[in-house]
Amino acid sequence: MVEKLYEGKAKILYPTEDEEILLTYFKDDATAFNAQKRGQIRGKGEINCAISAALFEWLESLGIPTHYIDRPERDRMRVKAVKILPIEVVVRNIAAGSLCKQTGLPEGKILPYPLVEFYLKNDALGDPLLTRDRLAILELATPQQLEQIEAMALKINQHLREFFERCGITLVDFKLEFGLDSGGQLLLADEISPDTCRLWDKAETDPKARVMDKDRFRRDLGEVESAYQRVQQRVLEQIAQLRNQ
Ligand code: 5GP
Repeated sequence: MVEKLYEGKAKILYPTEDEEILLTYFKDDATAFNAQKRGQIRGKGEINCAISAALFEWLESLGIPTHYIDRPERDRMRVKAVKILPIEVVVRNIAAGSLCKQTGLPEGKILPYPLVEFYLKNDALGDPLLTRDRLAILELATPQQLEQIEAMALKINQHLREFFERCGITLVDFKLEFGLDSGGQLLLADEISPDTCRLWDKAETDPKARVMDKDRFRRDLGEVESAYQRVQQRVLEQIAQLRNQ
């Protein structure tokens, strides 16, 4: 077995013979609250890999550059090697999670416009929210790159919102990561999955029953695996429908 390049909480990165290409292995491991809570979600690796692959491929077809190449195995994705920017980009359409905790906004409040936020990707510091000036002082990205990231994040939000709407799912919020390839091009990286998005079933009004994402694990709501499976089923069905159009 090739020695791993990097192991994160949900994925392991392996080098390949081509230094421009990496292999990402999606794990069943689940963590929350900065890894204070740990567990496993059976089948999560394969599900998140399949959902991410389908969404990356579809976003790429809409002109969003991503790191995705292909999915040689159910839980493995080949991606372009990028230098990940240490910034977590969160887009919110509806108030939930840390936004409610930190501002007092009620969960479920529809925001007047999509909110793009930047967090420092640093577990030891607890991924703090960054201001524009903190971003500038930390020099994590150039002002041009930040502008490009924000524009891409908003475009991705528009596409994903419409897509999930067709799946009968409300896209509440999500986290993106970006990287630079060897030529300095900005690419959407990491994953898009129920681990990184808040997804609410449109057919359910109950605030617990509607949750189809990692909040089921974070908040001990049960039926985590089946929620992830249902997201996968709806996403893949929708992708198949779009392909046939
Ligand atoms: P919040 O700031 O409300 O905790 O998270 C906002 C959104 O970004 C949620 O959809 C959440 O899943 C995602 N998110 C934020 N930080 C992380 C992170 O470190 N890991 C993962 N997997 N998702 C995150």
